[in-house]
Amino acid sequence: MAKVKVISAWLDACAGCHMSFLDIDEAIIGLADKIELLPTPITDFKEFTPADVGIIEGAISNEHDEEVAKQIRANCKILMVWGDCAVFGGIVSMRNLFSNEEVLDRYYSTESTTSNSKVPCSEELPPLVKVKPINQVVKVDCYVPGCPPSAKAILYALSELLEGRIPVLPSETMRYD
Ligand code: SF4
Repeated sequence: MAKVKVISAWLDACAGCHMSFLDIDEAIIGLADKIELLPTPITDFKEFTPADVGIIEGAISNEHDEEVAKQIRANCKILMVWGDCAVFGGIVSMRNLFSNEEVLDRYYSTESTTSNSKVPCSEELPPLVKVKPINQVVKVDCYVPGCPPSAKAILYALSELLEGRIPVLPSETMRYD
């Protein structure tokens, strides 16, 4: 049987959701027989290619994130989002309390360890947008919340997709043991 092709990306994220995926431990061996990872942060191919399942971790914080979300949506049949940042903005959306200028100044100047550092010119940075969850930019088919989602929840969601079902997470997958 042909393997299910998967593409994924992390946008404005900490990578914790993809790390939680790797926490499924030995179950990854069984999954490897059934799925093929195409461009993902783990495989590090750069161009998205058509896939059965697309996965996004992280919120949308700039125009590049918006473009990546649209590229994944255009290349997949089912789009699943992992983690609170992707599902509803999560901790990343705290940035919305501040202006773009305040955020950039804090990041590049105030907190820099290099003296005289300054905010890069606008051509070097993708323009920031108000932080938003993925479903405010593209259609999302299934959600795996949590910060990060437990490995159990991620494995359940992937297993359901492999069985041809859109996952509805049982409550026991939504908390850590
Ligand atoms: S949901 Fe949590 S673990 Fe996932 S990217 Fe956001 S902050 Fe990181």
